[in-house]
Amino acid sequence: MNILNNINIILQRIESACTRCGRESKEVRLLLATKTVSAESIKIAFDAGQRLIGENKVQEIAQKYDDLKKIQHETHFIGHLQTNKIKEILKYDVSCIQTIDSIRLANKLQDRLEYEDKEIDILIQVNTTNEDTKFGVSPDGLIELIKHISLLDRIHIKGLMTIGLFSSDTVKVRSCYRLLKQLQQKVIEKNIPNVEMRELSMGMSDHLEIAIEEGATMVRVGTAIFGDRIYPDSYYWDEGR
Ligand SMILES: *Cc1c(COP(=O)(O)O)cnc(C)c1O
Repeated sequence: MNILNNINIILQRIESACTRCGRESKEVRLLLATKTVSAESIKIAFDAGQRLIGENKVQEIAQKYDDLKKIQHETHFIGHLQTNKIKEILKYDVSCIQTIDSIRLANKLQDRLEYEDKEIDILIQVNTTNEDTKFGVSPDGLIELIKHISLLDRIHIKGLMTIGLFSSDTVKVRSCYRLLKQLQQKVIEKNIPNVEMRELSMGMSDHLEIAIEEGATMVRVGTAIFGDRIYPDSYYWDEGR
């Protein structure tokens, strides 16, 4: 695995995609999806100038924390957060939780933040695939969820996140990303106080170009930089396993 080389290829792909659709490449941030990746390998990416990582499990953040904290960087949480891990995750300077998808989770997070006198940025994870098995709020429930969370003063909504469909059918994949963009627009039109809708976190190794064409402001890339993982992604998305 040549991590440096792979990062350069990804940056090039981002750049080309932006050029093709008339966007500036600085509008799109690269988040390194670092589940199962060692602190050693992550440091190689830091040396290459990357500063934004996303982890799926609180335990993995904890394991790498001491090794990585000497190098200034930003950590987002991109896995499914269980309420019983909220207390733990707040120990590790996670700047954004991208996967808030229920009132219950948001309420528990607010309570704990209040108790610790902290605040946090979040994205709302939306299920854009119409499948029951995936996490994320349904498009129908999005506005209600956002209205509720907008009243929780410790939690700052910055935008939306989706995983989208796993498929080689790019038409279907694109429709997930397009839906997220449309939902962003819908939320913006509601003009809800205390809600920012700047970020659209969507697109992974395989389809980042499509996501950028549909308006992504953050692409989350793992495999194309760090190589294949042993377990299926569903394993990492479910914190309970
Ligand atoms: C692993 C992961 C990614 C990156 O996927 P790759 O296909 O490895 O690029 C993106 N988003 C989430 C939520 C992930 O868990």
